[in-house]
Amino acid sequence: MLDALVVGAGPTGLTMASELVRHGLRCRVVEQLEAPSVLSRALAVQARTLEVFDDFGIAEQALARGRKTEAFNVVGAGGVHTRVPMQAFSWLETRFPFIFMLPQDATEALLAEHLDTLGVKVERGLALEDFRQDADGVEATLKRAGGGVERVKARWLLGCDGARSRVRKGAGIPFEGETYDDACVLADVRVEWPLGQGELVLMPSMHGVVGAFPMPGEYRYRLFCVMPRDMLPEGDETTPLTLEEMQRILERMSNVPVRVSEPRWMTRYRLHRRGAPRYRQGRVFLAGDAAHIHSPAGGQGMNTGIQDAYNLAWKLALVNKGRAPESLLDTYELERHPVGQMLLRGTDRLFGLMAQGGTPSRLLRTYVVPRVAKRLLGGSYTQRLMARFVSQLAIHYRRSPLSTERIWGEEVGGVRLEEGPAPGERVPELPVKGEGVERLHEVLRGPQHTLLLFTGLKPEAKARSGLVALARRLEEAYGPLLRARVVVAGEGEPGPFVLADGEGALHRRFGAGAECFYLVRPDGYVGHRERPIEPKRLEAELARRMGPPGAGGEKRVAS
Ligand SMILES: Cc1cc2nc3c(=O)[nH]c(=O)nc-3n(C[C@H](O)[C@H](O)[C@H](O)COP(=O)(O)OP(=O)(O)OC[C@H]3O[C@@H](n4cnc5c(N)ncnc54)[C@H](O)[C@@H]3O)c2cc1C
Repeated sequence: MLDALVVGAGPTGLTMASELVRHGLRCRVVEQLEAPSVLSRALAVQARTLEVFDDFGIAEQALARGRKTEAFNVVGAGGVHTRVPMQAFSWLETRFPFIFMLPQDATEALLAEHLDTLGVKVERGLALEDFRQDADGVEATLKRAGGGVERVKARWLLGCDGARSRVRKGAGIPFEGETYDDACVLADVRVEWPLGQGELVLMPSMHGVVGAFPMPGEYRYRLFCVMPRDMLPEGDETTPLTLEEMQRILERMSNVPVRVSEPRWMTRYRLHRRGAPRYRQGRVFLAGDAAHIHSPAGGQGMNTGIQDAYNLAWKLALVNKGRAPESLLDTYELERHPVGQMLLRGTDRLFGLMAQGGTPSRLLRTYVVPRVAKRLLGGSYTQRLMARFVSQLAIHYRRSPLSTERIWGEEVGGVRLEEGPAPGERVPELPVKGEGVERLHEVLRGPQHTLLLFTGLKPEAKARSGLVALARRLEEAYGPLLRARVVVAGEGEPGPFVLADGEGALHRRFGAGAECFYLVRPDGYVGHRERPIEPKRLEAELARRMGPPGAGGEKRVAS
């Protein structure tokens, strides 16, 4: 029996499959399309997704294939123009402080290459028809494009099969929500206009909104127009859109003169807002568009699917190896469903402002928004808020049962553990000095949990060597499941198991005035933090999360 069958090779399925394989599961990924899609669809690859790619070791390739955006422009009626440089992003503690544009077909190609290097190929022209599940696993019926049926047994079924998910329907999970009334057209074209290149543009008007997202290549843009349905030329979503129609729409909606040419992809599009109330049904899971779809405003859809997969894969791996109870899998829905809901609400509001048809809304976005945009978006507070939302770096699981802490004893030098990254928050990217590493996320890289043992700001040599011995012993005990490092403040060089924190910057950021530890989950979120370090308690915490010591063991843990 297979460990996992992944249905769908979009960004979510490719991430899911490569993560499951990296965590050591035997897995197949089936895709109904016989060839990869060449449509650009999602363009924005957000900072958090690039961090995930960094973990996979493919961030450099992604950066080489796309382009950064330099600024955000709001252009109102009469050419009222506000330009906001993307400075707010430089404040984020990430290696990727920008909005990055990479067409979805390029993102999928990159993820498929990554999966390939892990020894798994997407099986194309193979569609899930049906499935049934029992206590031990799932039996799926797959249909070949050329004819023929195959039956496959797997312990887990991952529905990464998009908005019309067969897996979701088979599991009897509804998809609640609505389709927006407004019409929408998309076009990947060459654009000539009196605005700068490589920048995001939003043009609100009485007729709706034109959005422009820079694409790789000179003068290349994705144009995105939302308008009342009666403004769209005759035809439904399946009727092709011509360049002449696109030009006419822009002449009515654009606030600056614009000429479009050299179309690569143009389509009419209906926007939906739907979510599954449950992401799990026994041995079956939903992720990505199969679980939630929303307006592309904010460029979040694809990124959210990738994060769903990144959240679930390590949990499935621990349960599959018998190292964690099945109840761990319930935390997937507990953690990710609120994120899906928040996105539905957030993008809905943004979309409402952009596209609502009533006269007050039209007047507001046409005449008021462009005039107050500078004040609204120019302020560092609003910019930071937006940057945190858009980048997906602010997403947290603070209310998850997996987010725990135990703090007692004395703080040192007024540096409080409570002020470090809280349990359930993403670990920030910061410089470190270690053997072969210069950044904290390089220390976290890989499918294991990471234990950071902080010496505190005034360590004694004896305490430091004790922590190094502890790190070594725990790593030996847990093998590939755990990486343990001692973060040493004060004098000293990096060495085996040691990260040097001479000035104590890392200690301060983590609130580690006194000796303490952070246990970081494989997806880069803080699982647990504790002060002081008491080896027995620490070992109990590790056992609670990954079973008793004994690397690679398949021992079952009671639920
Ligand atoms: C026209 C368009 C424009 C968009 N623009 C943006 C944008 O600008 N920004 C943004 O963030 N998002 C955008 N999106 C949304 C974004 O593309 C999705 O959020 C993203 O593709 C979700 O990835 P996914 O892997 O979950 O699902 P999908 O990409 O839909 O992948 C699902 C895969 O499963 C396969 N599949 C389905 N059923 C079966 C089956 N029974 N058996 C086997 N395989 C199956 C499908 O063929 C498909 O390849 C756009 C979408 C569209 C359609």
